[in-house]
Amino acid sequence: MPHNSYILIRYGEIALKGGNRRFFEEKLIANIKEKLNRELPESFEFVRRISGRILIKIKGNIPNSKFLILNSIFGIHSLSFASESSQDINKLKKDCWNLMKEKFSAKGGSASGGKTFRITAQRSNKNYPLISQEINEKIGKYILTKLRHRMSKSKVCVKLTDPDINCHIEIIEKCAFIYLEKIPGPGGMPVGTGGKALALLSGGIDSPAAAYYLLKRGVRVDFIHFHSMPYTSPASVEKVKKLAGILNKYQSNSKIFLIPFADIQKEIMMKVPEKLRVIFYRRLMMKIAEEIAKKENYLALITGESVGQVASQTLENMKAIEDAVKIPVLRPLCGFDKEEIINKARDIGTYAISILPHDDCCARFVPKHPEIRAKLNEVKQAEKNMEVKKLIKKSLDKMEIISAI
Ligand code: ATP
Ligand code: MG
Repeated sequence: MPHNSYILIRYGEIALKGGNRRFFEEKLIANIKEKLNRELPESFEFVRRISGRILIKIKGNIPNSKFLILNSIFGIHSLSFASESSQDINKLKKDCWNLMKEKFSAKGGSASGGKTFRITAQRSNKNYPLISQEINEKIGKYILTKLRHRMSKSKVCVKLTDPDINCHIEIIEKCAFIYLEKIPGPGGMPVGTGGKALALLSGGIDSPAAAYYLLKRGVRVDFIHFHSMPYTSPASVEKVKKLAGILNKYQSNSKIFLIPFADIQKEIMMKVPEKLRVIFYRRLMMKIAEEIAKKENYLALITGESVGQVASQTLENMKAIEDAVKIPVLRPLCGFDKEEIINKARDIGTYAISILPHDDCCARFVPKHPEIRAKLNEVKQAEKNMEVKKLIKKSLDKMEIISAI
């Protein structure tokens, strides 16, 4: 039986329209190579484009399951472990039979094996002398003959919809590939095709899920976290490092900007009305993030806010917060229920870390009756009492930058 020595990768069509196609494909190939080199070294001979697909040639005898790490490469819509066959129809027939025969039930009827099959040929090489339907018929007929030889009274038949065994054939360029399974990928767009953004990562449940959604759309994401050390424990920082580490599997070399926030909080507590505190914490976080974004070319900020989830997340308050900056603020979770966010966080593996206890830099000084419908003129008036620029500069001077591992 031919060994599965290739992986055929399919990617989305929408992103490929227009002049972006090459850029998209090259980024996807680079991300695949980078992932394999990092996590499964010496595992491939090449990764290259082949007629609307990406082809990986596997090295040695690494089990297929190891390659499922490719499930965190956005842009992959599905993949198949494939064997190379031949465009010679007689050789192709034999290889298909060899690939399929184990899957049929031993006596044409045991419970475990397949009883129905189909052949699904596709040819991107339009010079091939047979059209797809002719390939299906010729190979299908051959398989039925083989089955009749093997069993006196075969109960196996062709079934076009939902067969037990579906043997795919792809005639691409000068090659022919055969495989039985299409494994769904994560979808989305290759990370790095959508610019870069800075995600405000708190250590809670929501913000890692928010970052995930932007990574999925091809945006490279780095992280910023505000902490109140030494007044709080380093727990939130440790959590953020771990969370960024988990999200790092979708890209690599993520950066984390760690910003001391305690002095700013003190100033806010002294200078602005109690009910506006949270709004000011967030405004200052946004302003600091925007400063970094300007210097490091981030195109947007990302937060884990969801409309109505907590007092600071009413539309009025979001408006009062976002007014502090000019940079676009992306809130991919804005329409999600908490339960949906929790499910996503579980899915991506961040939930267990997010629920570990930590001193939230803001939870300590949350007012009893926070403003839920902030008025912009009141906010602006209150801000006049603070030396915002000086505070931001002081914080940025003490900033630490680390990389996620
Ligand atoms: P999360 O679960 O992400 O903490 P949350 O529902 O607790 O979100 P808030 O605490 O109101 O919401 O924070 C709203 C958003 O502000 C967060 O999702 C995050 O993007 C950002 N944020 C809050 N605190 C911090 C922090 N200490 N450092 C960085 N970003 C923060
Ligand atoms: Mg929070």
